[in-house]
Amino acid sequence: MLLENRLAFITGGGRGIGRAIALAFAAEGASIVVAARTRAEIDKVASEVVNQFGVESLAVECDVANAESVLSAFSDLKEKFGRGPDIVVNNAGIAETALFVNTDEALWECHLNINLGGTFRCTHAGLPEMIERGWGRIINIASIAGKTGAPYVSAYAASKHGVLGLTRSLALEVAAQGITVNAICPGYVETEMTSRGIENIVEKTGKSADEALKMLERMSPQNRLVTPEEVAALAVLLASEDGRGINGQAINVDGGTVLF
Ligand code: NAP
Repeated sequence: MLLENRLAFITGGGRGIGRAIALAFAAEGASIVVAARTRAEIDKVASEVVNQFGVESLAVECDVANAESVLSAFSDLKEKFGRGPDIVVNNAGIAETALFVNTDEALWECHLNINLGGTFRCTHAGLPEMIERGWGRIINIASIAGKTGAPYVSAYAASKHGVLGLTRSLALEVAAQGITVNAICPGYVETEMTSRGIENIVEKTGKSADEALKMLERMSPQNRLVTPEEVAALAVLLASEDGRGINGQAINVDGGTVLF
């Protein structure tokens, strides 16, 4: 197993991509800490990994936009496991759409504070012990919107571009200390976030849900959405010893939509 004796802290682990990463890491033997705001969802995933793979798990309520909440989640996990995580997956995120002229302070602030600030806070909480141990993995779930722009998503794209800047700079700082820092950049993934996007297109354009889905599918040369499991498979490689040479990268999982 690729992740035996590893402890992974996964933000936004209650559903979608984060849940798929929790299951994939547990299948490789890692103990799992699932962190998000919705208690019922994180409890469910924490039970799933125990029941399916017999690993240890903990569900911690955590709002990554709030520094105290992140510190309290780390204190809870240290109490249970006696140490900090070997792997931090910064996956928690939100995506709202708006024309730039309608993007107010609140919309801007929540994207920067959750998507980018959350990545900063959880990395900051987990990194010192990784440095002490001389081994660690930071995996940031960014987006192809971290590499390109698109109409209606200026706040989201700015936050994800920020995640890539953080990833690349930190990767160089800790490269000689047994730690890698990488980002995964998915295209449209089959999750609730994309379902909400489809509802939004239906509401704003009058297209049917099927037409809206087909429109998103056509953005990929493979003419399909990515599955959460495909993103999780790359996260397993990055978290493993086999992935130790991959550092400071922003790897697309998008069927070839973005070619850089
Ligand atoms: P999702 O199904 O909406 O799940 C988002 C997760 O993030 C939930 O567990 C949510 O839980 C958590 N979260 C949101 N705000 C949080 C906060 N303040 N504190 C803690 N947890 C928070 O979305 P997804 O598609 O799995 O997306 C996961 C990541 O992939 C995001 O960073 C997203 O930007 C990125 N991504 C998604 C797509 C896509 O097409 N779906 C494409 C590219 C990148 P609570 O609400 O319970 O806190």
